[in-house]
Amino acid sequence: MADPTADCNIRVLCRFRPLNQAEILRGDKFIPKFQGDDTVTIAGKSFAFDHVFPTNTTQEQVYNTCAKQIVKDVLGGYNGTIFAYGQTSSGKTHTMEGKLHDRQQMGIIPRIAEDIFNHIFAMDENLEFHIKVSYFEIYMEKIRDLLDVTKTNLAVHEDKNRVPYVKGCTERFVSSPEEVMDVIDEGKSNRHVAVTNMNEHSSRSHSIFLINIKQEHVETEQKLSGKLYLVDLAGSEKVSKTGQREPFWTRPKTSTNPLVARQQNPRAVPRQQDDPDPAGLSGGNCRTTMFICCSPSSYNDAETKSTLMFGQRAK
Ligand code: ADP
Ligand code: MG
Repeated sequence: MADPTADCNIRVLCRFRPLNQAEILRGDKFIPKFQGDDTVTIAGKSFAFDHVFPTNTTQEQVYNTCAKQIVKDVLGGYNGTIFAYGQTSSGKTHTMEGKLHDRQQMGIIPRIAEDIFNHIFAMDENLEFHIKVSYFEIYMEKIRDLLDVTKTNLAVHEDKNRVPYVKGCTERFVSSPEEVMDVIDEGKSNRHVAVTNMNEHSSRSHSIFLINIKQEHVETEQKLSGKLYLVDLAGSEKVSKTGQREPFWTRPKTSTNPLVARQQNPRAVPRQQDDPDPAGLSGGNCRTTMFICCSPSSYNDAETKSTLMFGQRAK
């Protein structure tokens, strides 16, 4: 496992879900072979990542190994992105969200929400925190606000530091993990109401949960801020079928991609308390983690291989 505090600031992690009931009944074979904690072999070809999580890995283990550090980074003024890539039904939503109200099965987002507030309560009481969250999706290249159904075509703008943001997106102030969960529930139910076939829709849309943390010292007025983008990507099998030449986050200068692309700036400079850019938007201080989610079934072997190859290219 690479040291999450090391200079390299894109980490690629791979997670395999278990075979599901339908796959077992069909007689599919379990194809991955795991070596050590960072290598998986499929049909004789080996793929190495910063970490590979075999099927039996718990949500808590995933969080502790990879996402916990990101909370500290964002509270320290870094910007961060965690995104999940993989074919439909490979475990992206399970990894990012899981079951929101289940202690064992909750995924990265609810655990991050809890961790943020735990850290804040333990910090200097002269620090004042303002935490805002947004929740939106990108569907057919349009950005739709999941917290305000009237906003169906939001635009990406650049701030004065040329860092992209979604203009006009609803921002909710939150002061507890429960409030974060309420916002997610609200966004998800809006999405369900707006959509007839949820499975098809989620396989074609990217959903993005944004946590924006600003802190200010009450006496010195020194400021620090960090943003965390938590991205559940569209099914990777659909990306090539929607007429896009390549995944949206690798294409420069289109309406939606810079959100993620800009996060991948190779410089990782910790933000100082006296930073001249207190809004935290200069884009040079970011951490990116990509989860490569895979099915273990022989039925999906071709798609799994191409997913793993994509993950290796990202490194
Ligand atoms: P995706 O978002 O990639 O389409 P999901 O996260 O919805 O896929 O996962 C598909 C199904 O597999 C869901 O029912 C989910 O609960 C289950 N699943 C995914 N990953 C795991 C895992 N690691 N352990 C147990 N069940 C999983
Ligand atoms: Mg999903």
